[in-house]
Amino acid sequence: MTDRKIIIAGAGLGGLAAAGCLLKAGYDVDIYEQAPQLGEVGAGIQMSANAMHVLNYLGVGDEISERSVRPAAYVFRLHDTGELIDRFALSDEHLKMHKAPYNQAHRADLHQILANAVQKMKPGVVHLNKRATHFEESTDHVELFFDDGTSAKGDVLVGADGVKSVIRDQIAGAVPAVYTGDSAWRITIPKDKLPPDFMEEVMSVWMGPGKHAVSYWLRNGELFNFVGAVETPVASEESWTAKFPWEDLKADFVGWHEDIQTVIDLADHDQCFRWALYKRPVVDTWSTARATILGDAAHATLPYLAQGAAMAIEDGAVLSRALGQEDDTAEALKLYHRNRVERTSRVVETSDANRKLFHLDSVDEIRKAFASRNEGDDRNGWLYSYNPLTVELA
Ligand SMILES: Cc1cc2nc3c(=O)[nH]c(=O)nc-3n(C[C@H](O)[C@H](O)[C@H](O)COP(=O)(O)OP(=O)(O)OC[C@H]3O[C@@H](n4cnc5c(N)ncnc54)[C@H](O)[C@@H]3O)c2cc1C
Repeated sequence: MTDRKIIIAGAGLGGLAAAGCLLKAGYDVDIYEQAPQLGEVGAGIQMSANAMHVLNYLGVGDEISERSVRPAAYVFRLHDTGELIDRFALSDEHLKMHKAPYNQAHRADLHQILANAVQKMKPGVVHLNKRATHFEESTDHVELFFDDGTSAKGDVLVGADGVKSVIRDQIAGAVPAVYTGDSAWRITIPKDKLPPDFMEEVMSVWMGPGKHAVSYWLRNGELFNFVGAVETPVASEESWTAKFPWEDLKADFVGWHEDIQTVIDLADHDQCFRWALYKRPVVDTWSTARATILGDAAHATLPYLAQGAAMAIEDGAVLSRALGQEDDTAEALKLYHRNRVERTSRVVETSDANRKLFHLDSVDEIRKAFASRNEGDDRNGWLYSYNPLTVELA
């Protein structure tokens, strides 16, 4: 029943990917975004094969790959000596095994490429300055209301409005945001500021007591991305754009490896951002008869598996297929939820487990944890081998 009209709240990566899949399937779609302009922050984002399948399907995979770095490997190191604890191949091996690449992209590039593609499919699809406040639904339509006093009607509403989702709060009841105890620094450094041959093109996790760091190259190796997740007793703002003093960043990583010192020392002192990481309980109810949620609105996660946006993108593809498979909208939304809840919950749980693993107190504990992890480990195979375009929906 592609004569359904779909309205989406939120033009983040999840909302845009869902819009692309739905437009491609023949639905009429409109997206309502609160911001006055489209965009994303200047940080890195990893896109594994499970999400790249959808981006390839939307015709943007090659452009994203051209503007990304394909890391040779996933590497786990000790925070101070840099000792290699574990390594598994990405690059050609990931492509061969999972039939799509593993990319390290710039968030703004990924968002812009996706937004351009969706706007090409339907010019005028994104409506800016539209902050959704609530919705009302009846037997034959759903209406989304905005803080400027206007509203929009459709057959189905998708809440892709992120961690602070108002659509989720209305569907599932307001869920408390609980501070995880961790804050994530983010900085980027242009290649020309770094020493020649600085760090190979791998995805590195540096593990230490009470904190860990992730570092990798972006944009064909033009930019280096550093995220430092630090146990921080006092909660601050849950925001990508909250700036903190460089001196605090430097102090958080005292005693860490010289490569980490180089990155921090060369950072622009006025461009050090810190995001306080909050958790929300996994939401049980995702849908009413005509409204549903996806991405962080449904299953916000710690970023310690680098899969939050990938899950949002997968959600959009599965939602589109579920609507195509079931004529009854309420049944389609149930089908979507049934097929997404287990996988997305596993990502949340694994990310929580990684917090413990990456922040262990001693080298021995880390070595032991990796040895036992590797015994039955499939190198995230369960995660990357999933294809949301072909997985059977039941
Ligand atoms: C430090 C860090 C590193 C990460 N790294 C990765 C990674 O490597 N790989 C990965 O896959 N994920 C990563 N993530 C997770 C990823 O950023 C999120 O999971 C992803 O952005 C969620 O997408 P979304 O579309 O659901 O929500 P968002 O990106 O939050 O988009 C929501 C959109 O809705 C809009 N909006 C909000 N409220 C309203 C409203 N009331 N009305 C209208 N519009 C509204 C917002 O302005 C925004 O445009 C990371 C997260 C963090 C914090």
